[in-house]
Amino acid sequence: MTANFKSLTWKQTNLVVFTALFFAVAILIVEIAIQVISTKNQLSDAQQELLDSVEQTTTNAVWSLDDKLASQTLEGIIKVDNVGSAVIELDDGSLFVATSNPTEKFSSAYVKLSQSLFGDLREISRPIYRPFYFEGNKQQQLIGTLTVFYDTQKLTNKLFSQLKLGLIATLARALLLTLVLSVVFHRFLTQPIARISEAIDKIDPDSPDENLLPMSPAHKDDELGLVTSKFNQILLQFSQTQNKLRKMATRDPLTGLPNRTLLLETLNVTIQRSRVHKRNFTLLFIDLDRFKNVNDSLGHAIGDQFLARIARILERVVGDRGSVARLGGDEFVILADEIQTPDQAADFVDKLLMQLNAPVQLNEHAIHPAASIGISIYPDDGDKAEDLIRHADIAMYSAKAAGSNQWAFFKQQMTERAAVRLRTEASLHDALKNDEFLLYFQPKFDLKTNKVVGCEALIRWQKEGRLISPMSFIPVAEETGIIIPIGRWVIEQSCKVIREWQRKYNYSIPIAVNVASQQFADASLVPDIKQLAIRYQIRPELLEVEITETSLMNDVEQAIVKLEQLKSAGFGIAVDDFGTGYSSLSYLRHLPITTMKIDRAFVNDLPKDSAIASTILMLGRQLNLTIVAEGIENEEQLQWLKDNQCEVGQGFFFSNPLPLDEFEEKYILTETAKIVRF
Ligand code: C2E
Ligand code: MG
Ligand code: MG
Repeated sequence: MTANFKSLTWKQTNLVVFTALFFAVAILIVEIAIQVISTKNQLSDAQQELLDSVEQTTTNAVWSLDDKLASQTLEGIIKVDNVGSAVIELDDGSLFVATSNPTEKFSSAYVKLSQSLFGDLREISRPIYRPFYFEGNKQQQLIGTLTVFYDTQKLTNKLFSQLKLGLIATLARALLLTLVLSVVFHRFLTQPIARISEAIDKIDPDSPDENLLPMSPAHKDDELGLVTSKFNQILLQFSQTQNKLRKMATRDPLTGLPNRTLLLETLNVTIQRSRVHKRNFTLLFIDLDRFKNVNDSLGHAIGDQFLARIARILERVVGDRGSVARLGGDEFVILADEIQTPDQAADFVDKLLMQLNAPVQLNEHAIHPAASIGISIYPDDGDKAEDLIRHADIAMYSAKAAGSNQWAFFKQQMTERAAVRLRTEASLHDALKNDEFLLYFQPKFDLKTNKVVGCEALIRWQKEGRLISPMSFIPVAEETGIIIPIGRWVIEQSCKVIREWQRKYNYSIPIAVNVASQQFADASLVPDIKQLAIRYQIRPELLEVEITETSLMNDVEQAIVKLEQLKSAGFGIAVDDFGTGYSSLSYLRHLPITTMKIDRAFVNDLPKDSAIASTILMLGRQLNLTIVAEGIENEEQLQWLKDNQCEVGQGFFFSNPLPLDEFEEKYILTETAKIVRF
């Protein structure tokens, strides 16, 4: 309630009091006026009557100059109401007899008031004539005057004491009326309204229909009843709309399952309950394997139907042991509050996968669902909803990385970085299939002639509109072995490009491809390269493999065998990132290589710190190798390299790695144009 809140009862009482007072005063004024007029009329009648009644006696007393009789008459007169004094004067103006009542003292204001009300009736006189007098046509002879003085103060006093009573009665009536009206008003209007307002206060906006306004039987058929029932109707409608909105906001429209919002709500409630009862529960994060294939090959309509069917299967398997939610895409979460131990969880997940693997028939298609499942258990794997979901998610990626239809418990070692790695690994599986890789090309320049003498193919991963650098996924690909098919793709792609350039532009420069350690260790590398060169009919010297110093050192014997095979077949062999492997330089002599790339870390130090670059250049010259300096970024570095007879350079100073079409436009088209011009 606000500070300046005023009750209706209070306002109404004030209003009634003031109105009653106003009318009481108004009526009083009218009453005074009427009373004054009628009192004056009565008084004037009474005065005439009085004079009439004493005229005869007074005449006789004056005529006979009987002062005793005159005094007796005046004594009688002053006994009459309101008479103050009476005087008889003789015709010569001399006083004959006078009598008066004792006078009371009144305030001057009072005297003034009575003067103005009854001033004209204060004094009344009657001439006294000689009895039986006839002289010519003159029939009357004045022998004296009777004058009666009225005490108007007394009259006023009497009048006001009567009116005072009237005023008190009116006021009492007004107050009584106010009281009765206030009680009635309070009881029948203010109180019910206050009750309605209290009931409105209790309404919970989240569930408005739970606290409908109470309908008092006394007001069922009046306006208050009408207001209450209308208000309740609105509350019910509001609640229905709210339920609909809530459903829309908390359900996944495709499967009808709870969405992330509702899952979080339920999860929070479950966490609270489990904390109180000291119980565990399990959260499963399910991601369908190869769902993208279903969507891509059978269309989104079938994809949607498939998801809805999966939702039903999950619900059936979970039964009353928990609830299923869909987070979006092909991700589902099961909150199993009845599953408390890892053993129970493992049994459950095995059963779940078995049920899930049964083929689903959609139209004429039989789809074999598979899923990867991550498990987190409250409270060991998190005591907050978000943590439990995130950890189950991380565990799911670990399961997915282990292959299809696997499950894994969350482990603390699966940190955020590991999670990113796992996620990368899981999606790398699909990247090749989905054609998400592309090659960029960075030119290499002859430092003497400034001509493009080759280029390096550098892989990029285009994932969800972003270009991912090889630095972040090649290490993961190496660890998991996916590097082998990826590496094969790079070689094949480069062979295709060499052939295209020859065919389209009659242009040929060697392309260098990077070969990872694991790929180099793989037995199929050499046969693969040979086969691809034959398949695309390219000259072997146009393909150069870049192998890091570290990969060569893993197994030097084996490396020599492989490099011999490649070299004798005619392929170029470069040692990449040379200088970073801390290997003894002497073993280089035994390696059948053609090129050495000075790592960009050493180029970066030029020209100030040039010891390593000088040594590598010297060694290269001794072994008769082509030296390529990579990572040239500025003029000074270039100048130093030129001065020290480095033959080939590569780096941002010349060009960033470029997409195929840009590379062609910038280097091949201008080159061929030059050929035409000269
Ligand atoms: P790398 O073989 O030493 O490739 C050179 C890297 O240096 C490229 O980075 C290139 O963009 C970058 N670079 C070129 N010029 C400059 C420069 O002036 N300054 C600096 N700071 N950097 C420069 P990118 O493309 O990110 O590749 C990084 C590494 O990823 C490569 O190092 C290579 O080890 C690996 N990689 C790239 N593509 C493949 C591939 O197809 N297969 C394998 N196995 N590894 C690859
Ligand atoms: Mg390289
Ligand atoms: Mg390098």
